Amino acid sequence: MKKIPYLVILISTILGCKSLQNTSEVSQPTVANLDLVNVQNDKVEVVIDPARFTSETTTFYIPKTVPGTYSEDNYGRFIEDFKALDYEGKEIQFTAVDENSWLIPNAENLDKVSYWVNDTYDTQGEGGVFSPSGTNIMENQNFMLNLHGFVGYFDGLEEQQYRLEIKRPENLIPGTALTLYDTSESQEQEKTDIFLLDRYFQVTDNPIMYALPDTTAFSVEGMKVLVDVYSPNKVYSSEDITPGIKEMIAAQKRFLGDIDNTDKYAILLYLAQAGQQDATGMGALEHHTSTVVVLPESMPKPALQKTMTDVVSHEFFHILTPLNVHSQEIHYFDYNAPEMSEHLWMYEGVTEYFANLFQVNQGLIEEEDFYGRMTGKIETSMNFDDTMPFTVMSRNILEEEYAKSYYNVYQKGALIGMALDIRLRELSNGEMGILDVMKKLSEKNGKDRPFQDEQLFKDIVALSYPEIETFFEKYVSGTTPIPYDEFFNKVGLELTEEEVNTSYFLKGQTPYVDINSETGELFFRENITFNSFLDELGVEGGDIIKSINGTAVNQENAYNIIMSSLSWEPGTEVTIVVERNDEEITLAETAFQPQDKELKLVDQSLDESNSKVQLRRSWLKD
Ligand SMILES: [Zn+2]
Repeated sequence: MKKIPYLVILISTILGCKSLQNTSEVSQPTVANLDLVNVQNDKVEVVIDPARFTSETTTFYIPKTVPGTYSEDNYGRFIEDFKALDYEGKEIQFTAVDENSWLIPNAENLDKVSYWVNDTYDTQGEGGVFSPSGTNIMENQNFMLNLHGFVGYFDGLEEQQYRLEIKRPENLIPGTALTLYDTSESQEQEKTDIFLLDRYFQVTDNPIMYALPDTTAFSVEGMKVLVDVYSPNKVYSSEDITPGIKEMIAAQKRFLGDIDNTDKYAILLYLAQAGQQDATGMGALEHHTSTVVVLPESMPKPALQKTMTDVVSHEFFHILTPLNVHSQEIHYFDYNAPEMSEHLWMYEGVTEYFANLFQVNQGLIEEEDFYGRMTGKIETSMNFDDTMPFTVMSRNILEEEYAKSYYNVYQKGALIGMALDIRLRELSNGEMGILDVMKKLSEKNGKDRPFQDEQLFKDIVALSYPEIETFFEKYVSGTTPIPYDEFFNKVGLELTEEEVNTSYFLKGQTPYVDINSETGELFFRENITFNSFLDELGVEGGDIIKSINGTAVNQENAYNIIMSSLSWEPGTEVTIVVERNDEEITLAETAFQPQDKELKLVDQSLDESNSKVQLRRSWLKD
């Protein structure tokens, strides 16, 4: 998964296997019917028809959480009018156990269950569900079928086959990595698509986006890539973004070398409309053979292309981990009683690191650009507790206290990857890096051989060097902050800090403010340092901005107001009304050029033959 703060996106737009009970007679597939034609009140009717039960009772579940999201989303909240029906079509009594589960007695009589599904995209605040794992129902236009939001499973039947039957308007076609088993014309202007899936996991692992046809396909070294785009105002088509994606995936394949992966990959891009009740969680979620990406339709083309490169490359590298290399917690994923692994530093951190490293390795970006990305991550990671062991945070990520640190997996998580990479290069005289270790792990484990959570560090040490054990003990499971300057020194770089000019609300492309996606309020970010102007003004982290120079601020105009501040001349009077602890406070100050500190990585200007320079070359270019 890759989450991007909403305002960061907006700003960048301008600037630039469980043991089974044998509960059913024969292995008939569970049939799931979705009716995308007869949408009622923005809801879709779903019917799930399992094989006949031999057990006395059964429980039907909609997932509480799904792999890759690291949050409890309770998709059962979006289900209404649940019914259990016997073979004569009569309703059977059932008990709604909690938001996501329904206990049905007399299971021998159960023919099927039916219910109506509400989508997340136009629910207030999306019910806290991250858009790339959410659902969209827009009659005759778009259906984002993250299937875990539509199709549930019966206790003990998760490993049985599924047959998906999706009735849809003739003009909307499925964008997915799945292969169509059959399409039939049920009525005029209606078609029914049939997909066969081996088990429930595949249902959740294969999103389908129904929209008007806009697919571009290409092949890279034997892998077929599909790019599907939904752009409500037809601002972009799949052809607009495909060239950049093609160049990037080709570079990723070269970077990865002989790692065996999928022969088909689908990129489903949903472009959301700003200022409307629509998806606001920007970023993407990974699957084995596809990814769902959500971005604003208002992004200028260069920004969209760059963001697609960063986001899709991140998702594509997830093929390595957690999709290939993962622990038992992930392999035997419990959709309704999830256990979290300790190793987010690897699943998300190393993935994010690779998504940056491959770009400099393959010449898509310059070294300075790569350094800037790493120092940016150091700065952002300093907004979080640098002594919190990553393994503890990871295991407890579903708890509120730790969930707040999730964004740090892309920051410090990636930096753990970087520091480990440098250390491995140092110990091996440049011969071995973290990609080599990941390849070895992938050979040892692979997608059907999960590791034991507590075994991973030992495995990596065994595959590399004894010294790596200390690295893990100190910087990953321990409380010691990573001494970045020591690591950079190994490769002839020096970490320095300089004063830089900033805008009033932005440092480079990073805003000092953010939007609360649930309330739409603009606020000053917490746990960060502000520029000299905001300091002088008396701003505190968490302050909600009510008005700026007399103009009331809301989600719709926040972006324009911040942009107009770019033209404030020194000497202009600035008045900002903020809400702090339920009290309105007026802050006023005469504008002056704001300054802030920025980390910079500089070359130590060593001779080309210096061993540090050679180590740097093997780190970045081998
Ligand atoms: Zn990710």
